[in-house]
Amino acid sequence: MRLRTTLEQLALLVLPLLMAHSLCAKEPETGSHLPAKPFVVVIDAGHGGKDTGAIGPSGKYEKDVVLSTARKLAGMIHREPTLRDVMVRRGDQFVDLKQRASIARKARADLFISLHADAYQADNVEGSSVFTLSANGASSEAARYLADRENSAEIDGVKLKNHNKVLASVLVDLSKNANQEASDTAASFIMDALSKEFPVHNREIQKAGFMVLKSLDVPSILVETAFITNPLEEIKLCDDRHQDKLARALFRGIRNYALKSRPDLMQWANTKSKTP
Ligand SMILES: [Zn+2]
Repeated sequence: MRLRTTLEQLALLVLPLLMAHSLCAKEPETGSHLPAKPFVVVIDAGHGGKDTGAIGPSGKYEKDVVLSTARKLAGMIHREPTLRDVMVRRGDQFVDLKQRASIARKARADLFISLHADAYQADNVEGSSVFTLSANGASSEAARYLADRENSAEIDGVKLKNHNKVLASVLVDLSKNANQEASDTAASFIMDALSKEFPVHNREIQKAGFMVLKSLDVPSILVETAFITNPLEEIKLCDDRHQDKLARALFRGIRNYALKSRPDLMQWANTKSKTP
């Protein structure tokens, strides 16, 4: 009898505590203010499979060094609560250029970043360059893109099916210009981050008609990390610590661009930094 009473008393004491705990546990502190949509970064390790990319003087392949760096970058993005990483290829496989862009569209990417290692005849050329698509390249691809998707085209969620051709071309232009601007901004943030730590081949953002960048609705940039044809840079590109440093610089550039282009992420970051 006496034992039962003690147990009952204990239950009376413990139950309210348990209930209070479960009420507190309902909404965990972390994550409750996370932005609704993460900033999606599609990381494209250039080349792969039968396409080795450039080959260094000691025989190292571009496809391998960019994949290792891409994996490190993906890991850093993965650990950031407001960012999400999507890798175009995780292993040594061939992915054609249209597939790469289509992966970015399907992932609803906020940024597509393609990683490469440069090549040149003279082996003393060094440093990184950052590219965005040239306006001419975008324009011809835009026309082809529109033609391909004639009756079921959808750009930024706007169905083109029932619009006349003039409106369709205006929508394509708007989407193209907005993306060009966003791509240029992203490229500047990444160049800023790279130039603080590495030699730079071209400080200005370069323009080129890279096929992989001919994507209409995703801001896209291409980074030539260094020259694999330069024996010293080939060694660095294969070095684990150098790859870490490179991935870290790319990550900083991406994060700065994400905060600039998405005010909700900036707001979240500010709230977080004020929380003790
Ligand atoms: Zn390449």
